Amino acid sequence: MPNPVPDQPSFPMNISVPEARAMLADLLPPLETEMVGVGQAAGRFLASDLEARVSHPSATESALDGIACREADTLSASREAPVRLKVVGESRAGVPFGGRVEVGECVRIYTGAPVPEGADAICPVEQLQDDGEEGVRLLRPASKGDVRPEGGDFRVGEVVLNAGVRLTPSRLALAVSLGHAEVPVRRQLRVALLSTGDEVREPGTTLTPGQVYDSNRYGLAAMIREAGAEVIDLGHSPDSPEVLAHLIGEAGGADVLLTSGGVSMGKYDFMRDLLLEQGRVSFWKVRLRPGGPAMLGGWRGLPVFGLPGNPVSSLVVFQVIVRPAITGEAPFTLKLRAATPFRAIPDKAAYWRGNIVGGTVSDYGKQGSGVLRSLSDTGALVIVPEGQPVAVGDEVEVMLF
Ligand code: AMP
Ligand code: MG
Repeated sequence: MPNPVPDQPSFPMNISVPEARAMLADLLPPLETEMVGVGQAAGRFLASDLEARVSHPSATESALDGIACREADTLSASREAPVRLKVVGESRAGVPFGGRVEVGECVRIYTGAPVPEGADAICPVEQLQDDGEEGVRLLRPASKGDVRPEGGDFRVGEVVLNAGVRLTPSRLALAVSLGHAEVPVRRQLRVALLSTGDEVREPGTTLTPGQVYDSNRYGLAAMIREAGAEVIDLGHSPDSPEVLAHLIGEAGGADVLLTSGGVSMGKYDFMRDLLLEQGRVSFWKVRLRPGGPAMLGGWRGLPVFGLPGNPVSSLVVFQVIVRPAITGEAPFTLKLRAATPFRAIPDKAAYWRGNIVGGTVSDYGKQGSGVLRSLSDTGALVIVPEGQPVAVGDEVEVMLF
């Protein structure tokens, strides 16, 4: 078998994960801004900063149901010696009390209702006794802490959400509370997706020995969508350079093509040959496991990222390299103590699957790059830097999957 590695490659090989991320991000086009209604904006990325158009709270309001009064009138209140105040009105959400609270007075107030002029404290209903029609007795002093000051959350003109952030459900809710009905977002990246392999079959068909279902294409499509991008599904190609070239040609309108399989050292790894011989290669092989054979290149102006075919490798490489490059978000990691040792690979960062239990992480065991259950059972990748084994009790960085 001829060695597929050129003697003097014109592209970098065996690069680091951060280098791979940066090189992929560099090949992606800038995404134009579009205005989208807030009902459609979930999961999209803000194209510019968002300012508050209103203050929140829009008035000084009560955090509780109870009465609003002057704190100074109530300082001596206790169960043994309640303080009596005269009730002069009511303030409820949407219908404020029009007057002013004077010494010895209070108004009944409900959560979210404006605190009337003169009042500066709230006593909750649980600490009140009715005292005839027009009076209440306080069993403890009223508290200024239960008043939500106007603008305490944000003020008109304040930049509250920054360009580039993803509109998660809480950020989308915040954008609406800032007063926006439409938000400027980046257009979605269009990601074409193609799986390869003579042994790879559609779900729902019957396998013969040696065949495997196309789990990568479905897993990757879900990950692409989850990363806020659009999927252009090119289906599946057999290991044939002609069919591959034809299907890649169908990726019109895509910003980037992701392929699965066919980029390692075997005779039938035609994605590799296609890019090496007829396309362009930006890098080949990344210093990580699983997922080492990943390849970045181009085909007639279209950036192509070749993911390895092994099911764990393809999803890990997406999570570790592709996702951060297309979202602009750093992967979310946390530090945990190791409950078992984790071995290191001399010249590769290892992403071992780990079980998180009680604030520690332990080795899942079956770390083969074909064992999809290692990902679905754990949802956690323990990052072991090149050549630095982890001992029990060491702190490790863990990426949630
Ligand atoms: P390759 O990278 O093409 O050499 O494939 C490596 C391994 O991953 C082989 O065992 C393939 O059967 C498996 N594989 C390749 N493509 C897929 C796919 N789309 N879904 C599931 N497994 C795959
Ligand atoms: Mg293959």
